[in-house]
Amino acid sequence: MIIRENLLSECHQYGVEAYPEETCGFIVGSQDDPEDLETVIPMRNIMNELHAEDPEQFPRTALDGYMIDPREHMKLERSLKKEGKKIKVIYHSHPDVGAYFSEKDKEDALWNGKARYPGITFLVCATNNGSPGAAILADFNANSGDFEITQIPSRSLVSSSGLLGGTFGITGTLPTIDFIDEWKNGKREIEFGYFRFVPQKQVLNLQTEFSSNNQVRHSLAYCSGRAALLELLSYLQDSRPQINLHLSSTESFIKDALQSLEIKELVFNCNQLPAADNFSAKEGDVILLTPQDPENFVRKNTEWLEKIKRIRVPVIVFGELGAEFGKADFKIDWPSGLTYWVAGFSLPESKSLSSGIQGGVIMSNNDRQMAELTELRKRRGAVLSARDAAVFCEQFAETVKTVPEPDTNSEKCSSKITSVPETSVLKQLCAWEHAASGLLFPSGMAAIMAVLTLLRKKNKPQVVVIGLLYSETYSLLMDSGRSSTWDAVFLGLHELERLPEVLTDSTAMVITETITNPLCGVPDLERIGKLVKAQGVPFVVDNTLASPENCQPIDWGADYVIHSTTKYLNGTNDHAGGAVLVKCAENAIALKKFQENWGLEISELETEVLWGRMQDFEERMQRFNQNSLAVANFLEEHSAVARVYYASSPIDASCTSASKLLSGNGGVVSFVLQNDTEENLRNFYDGNFYCILKAPTLGSNQTLVCPYPLLTHYHDSDEELREIELPRYLIRISAGCENDFDPILADLNSALLRTTQSDNQLQ
Ligand code: PLP
Repeated sequence: MIIRENLLSECHQYGVEAYPEETCGFIVGSQDDPEDLETVIPMRNIMNELHAEDPEQFPRTALDGYMIDPREHMKLERSLKKEGKKIKVIYHSHPDVGAYFSEKDKEDALWNGKARYPGITFLVCATNNGSPGAAILADFNANSGDFEITQIPSRSLVSSSGLLGGTFGITGTLPTIDFIDEWKNGKREIEFGYFRFVPQKQVLNLQTEFSSNNQVRHSLAYCSGRAALLELLSYLQDSRPQINLHLSSTESFIKDALQSLEIKELVFNCNQLPAADNFSAKEGDVILLTPQDPENFVRKNTEWLEKIKRIRVPVIVFGELGAEFGKADFKIDWPSGLTYWVAGFSLPESKSLSSGIQGGVIMSNNDRQMAELTELRKRRGAVLSARDAAVFCEQFAETVKTVPEPDTNSEKCSSKITSVPETSVLKQLCAWEHAASGLLFPSGMAAIMAVLTLLRKKNKPQVVVIGLLYSETYSLLMDSGRSSTWDAVFLGLHELERLPEVLTDSTAMVITETITNPLCGVPDLERIGKLVKAQGVPFVVDNTLASPENCQPIDWGADYVIHSTTKYLNGTNDHAGGAVLVKCAENAIALKKFQENWGLEISELETEVLWGRMQDFEERMQRFNQNSLAVANFLEEHSAVARVYYASSPIDASCTSASKLLSGNGGVVSFVLQNDTEENLRNFYDGNFYCILKAPTLGSNQTLVCPYPLLTHYHDSDEELREIELPRYLIRISAGCENDFDPILADLNSALLRTTQSDNQLQ
């Protein structure tokens, strides 16, 4: 019998919930199909009651025994019969004693040496320390008169990743390469992952709330209503040859944003809806309506909406939700003719937040388009803070009268906000980065997207990219659609002599990373800075991996410096954010305007958390530097390692730039195994690590490991990977800032020995 993973993990889950007691129940399925298993039905374990009544006859309690409530059992049998179903599996949990079929289990399952429940399989799920453990199946074999035991392969027990960073954790552990394979192949949903790829629970809850309140299939949350609207418009623009926007609004933020998107608009009056005959999907028509009272508007114009839907012209209704938002009975009847409803929503200053919080949502029944928008949101980073989402959910539920505050322990929002730390954060970042001014964003990708969109113009379509950049930045630059009229020129770190010839009047910017992710290349910022200055081209440097403790790109000629504050600056995996620091204050003016128009402000709750974490950043960063050096030296010496990628690695000719530019190397060290195969990667990765966590982020105070290209370039061909010189089975270590680092090296050593031991076995 094969028990599907979801059913198995449900049985485990009941075991976890009942821990330290045993749980029990059934898995039921169709009477006609022996293989069919449909539903897990938990039953009451009455062992404690029996023991209390007659301890002599029932010496065990629920701590070490189970007895299914016979009344519940009979009732279930009756209803299953009516439905053409029957019990197929009896399961129970084993707290802290492992998964085995005990003598007592056998005794209970037999009657005069025969199966008491013929044809029924027993499932025993171990619950170790309250966590799911192994499992076994026991089937009675009439010939041998005994039970046959099947161990359930351990990989199917690894049913989900664990959350890192507490309640508002931004990443999850990825236990095995198979787990990653299944996720990447769409065979598995994962519960916890990097926040832009796997939305945090609070964001999902809010999206579900919107979908159910508005009877719509999909809701996608964004950091603001403006961000939601403009992300939708830029998606529509990218997904069709041209866009003619028929607009009922004169709002300046829309007009400004349309200008930066280079979208043509045709304004009409919302009170005189134009006839459907005036539009054609073929001409790229899109209608954007911004009525005062969107709910009333759609209710009154259902016929018109239906007509427009028939000619397949998308209609977007946009409006900020007002006072009605947050009321328990806030509901919109989804008008079937409507393509997209985009709403902004906010909570005002009065709720103990000095500037209030905001969010946005796109709702639609368009499956494909919403799936594509979901993909884009991963990359463009206009995400809603999980903290804000939690507050909005509470507002929806009307259970809490005051807004929860940002936490310092990352467990729950509890203390009151007393200051606005955004200015404090920016002042500190500017001091560290030698910058004149700066802005905070909802994520590192949102910061990158803002700078790219601001600087790229139709008459300046070219971006010069130096080195292999972080995968999502790379994808953003490679983006299809509008970017087909844009042009990215990729130069290797050692091809800088070509830079003068590729810089032209149409170059919008040169972009690189101080230390590239994940290959740890260090471009010669000084040389690039001088060349771009001579041409008057803006120079953008992502300083996330080096951090401001180790490098100030502005000193070497950078105009814009970007950070994902999600990483070292925070350190505890419980905050998402980004920053742009600028050399000249004037550059911040246009960027600020862009940020306002696009609604890309960071949440105040996130800023507060970041500010707290930044207090010991400099000291932590020194330890990140030391620990990564220890990892790099250790790996360089290790016989199981073929090549180490590290900012100051002597093997890399870029080390000359590292010693010039960097006072420390950050925390990232990547390497390939001597025996560079997938199987050997599994030997390394799939085994147990005792101190190192298997998770896809960097800059965490705890040391992390991940098979980076398998996470970011999974579907790339060998040729594509060769072109960007990225080894498929590269392993990235993000050294943490642990005070005692020996256990981490010991952990790494054990994992590396796994790879050589299996080599020896093969020989
Ligand atoms: N820049 C670099 C170098 C990164 O490594 C990352 C994420 O890993 C980002 C930008 C994006 O930051 P965020 O995940 O906060 O959007």
